[in-house]
Amino acid sequence: MPYTYDTQNIFAKILRGEIPNSTVMETEHTLAFNDITPQAPHHVLVIPKGAYVCYDHFALEASEAEIVDFTRTIGKLCAQLGVQPGEGGNGFRLITNAGEDAIQEVPHMHIHLVAGRGLGRILQ
Ligand code: ADP
Repeated sequence: MPYTYDTQNIFAKILRGEIPNSTVMETEHTLAFNDITPQAPHHVLVIPKGAYVCYDHFALEASEAEIVDFTRTIGKLCAQLGVQPGEGGNGFRLITNAGEDAIQEVPHMHIHLVAGRGLGRILQ
């Protein structure tokens, strides 16, 4: 089934400037902003500017330029937040929910970057 993108989803409205956001970083293809309901001292949502519904849609259909920009932006965010474990930080977790079973609430591809406290195990 083809991916169907809902142009009225809340992140689409943020990208169009119809709803305010707390921007942490912005590049040509990517926007990172603070989650409105933070689950940790650092809780940033990273989204591609393109109209992708979920991770697999983005990974399969985005251009290489978009994918590189998105991935590098997450690395730069980790550096900006000072959470890189290899650089003396305490680490971070990336989470993406896709579809119903994962309870994806906003149908625009996003990765949660959470850090700043012990995060516990999610898979055991
Ligand atoms: P879940 O809420 O189950 O994590 P998602 O993975 O779809 O579902 O995450 C959506 C995230 O978007 C939530 O963490 C929510 O707090 C956040 N959010 C919703 N509206 C806004 C907004 N206007 N600005 C910033 N974050 C938002």
